[in-house]
Amino acid sequence: MLIGEGPGEQEDKTGRPFVGPAGQLLDKILLAVGLDREDVYICNIVKCRPPRNRVPENDECTACMGFLRQQAALVQPKIIILLGATAAKAILGPDVRITRDRGVWQLKKGIWMMPTFHPSALLRDETKKRPVWEDFKAVREKMQILGIFPEKAKE
Ligand code: URA
Repeated sequence: MLIGEGPGEQEDKTGRPFVGPAGQLLDKILLAVGLDREDVYICNIVKCRPPRNRVPENDECTACMGFLRQQAALVQPKIIILLGATAAKAILGPDVRITRDRGVWQLKKGIWMMPTFHPSALLRDETKKRPVWEDFKAVREKMQILGIFPEKAKE
């Protein structure tokens, strides 16, 4: 399960998560480690686009948490990747610092969780590409260890 921040313009229009530029980059990142959209479940912390695309406020994240809990209850993920600071803080707590804490696994209620940079951050700053590549290689490894890496994509 991958959790982003909230719908952007394209996502708001289509009702689907990560279909705009950040989503296209996310597809490429997934493909690079042998995964495609059918292998993962992608969703967001908030379910509506905040005005002027601003970062969602805490009460907005809290208001949407019930939906996210339901999504997790249905999907029963073994791994959750938190894309960006908003998702990482909403799930792991306000003290998370994405630059410091990305790439670090935490086991919470039996689910392996890891924050990494949001794909939009990569679009703005190329130097974040390498750490995200390392993080997604670690995701592949964790999936292999847990026996949930899709058979078709095995090397
Ligand atoms: N950014 C997000 O955090 N989520 C989306 O669905 C699209 C862009």
